[in-house]
Amino acid sequence: MARYTGPVCKLCRREGHKLFLKGQKCYTEKCPVDRRSYPPGQHGPANSRRRKQSDYATQLREKQKVKRMYGLPEKQFRSLFETASNQSGVTGENLLVLLETRLDNVIFRMGLAASRNQARQTVRHRHVEVNGRVVDIPSYIVKPGDEVAIRSGSRDLLSVQAALEARTRPDLAEWLTIDEGKKIGRIVRRPTRADIPLAVQEQLIVELYSK
Ligand code: SF4
Repeated sequence: MARYTGPVCKLCRREGHKLFLKGQKCYTEKCPVDRRSYPPGQHGPANSRRRKQSDYATQLREKQKVKRMYGLPEKQFRSLFETASNQSGVTGENLLVLLETRLDNVIFRMGLAASRNQARQTVRHRHVEVNGRVVDIPSYIVKPGDEVAIRSGSRDLLSVQAALEARTRPDLAEWLTIDEGKKIGRIVRRPTRADIPLAVQEQLIVELYSK
């Protein structure tokens, strides 16, 4: 299925959570989730008063929430889940670590893009290098020790400058370092679940896909 290109605030309202899909604007504009705390559409207000969700619906909503946060189509998300389930350890945690270590997410977490969507574009437009070589694949998984940088010819990009100046997110994650002047960062170590600031129950996604 193609990537969703419609109004992103609808996705947040559908999940009933702020997914911060518009980058800096989410902090400066009035958020529709605050103003209309019910799902979008004609039956939205009625749906918000609906009876208790089934287990399946709860699991599905949790999966959709995470998938939408990271901006992945279903096929890609499912394939990442398969990779996570083939790794040793806890599948749900493996899945979140794989999502976090995608190159587009790392650019976002380093503050070099205002949103994951913008980070994905920055990568696709060949502005990013990993260990000195251009990588234009947003799903590229970085490893501990990798150096991630904005290419020297692209360091004055307005979107990168604006993202760095407007940083309002919490401090940089401990598994990353960044030299904001040179726009070069490094992956210090593999993130753990405690490093991933997401209020999600990843176990529900595992249960959904294990049916
Ligand atoms: Fe989501 Fe941001 Fe829109 Fe609020 S403003 S609904 S957080 S995308």
